[in-house]
Amino acid sequence: MPNNVSDLLLDGNVAARLLQRIFVPDITLAKIRCHSCDRVSGVGSLILHASPMGAVLKCADCESDLMRAVDTPRGLWLEMTGARFLRF
Ligand SMILES: [Zn+2]
Repeated sequence: MPNNVSDLLLDGNVAARLLQRIFVPDITLAKIRCHSCDRVSGVGSLILHASPMGAVLKCADCESDLMRAVDTPRGLWLEMTGARFLRF
């Protein structure tokens, strides 16, 4: 049992096994909750707006932006401010 809060603080490497369970599975099977309308749907059922700049996945119900993926020379970026959570 930890004696104080500092005993609970570890670096992110300790979460590797948990995060691997989240990011390795087929993302289209994950459930996502829309921040705007609260609908929960499968990522595979979202509406894709593709462009040379990247991909925007929109809620099929209210068309809010849920995910944006952009591949740049500095890395692959994923923004999810329109989503409350992903569930695997
Ligand atoms: Zn929505």
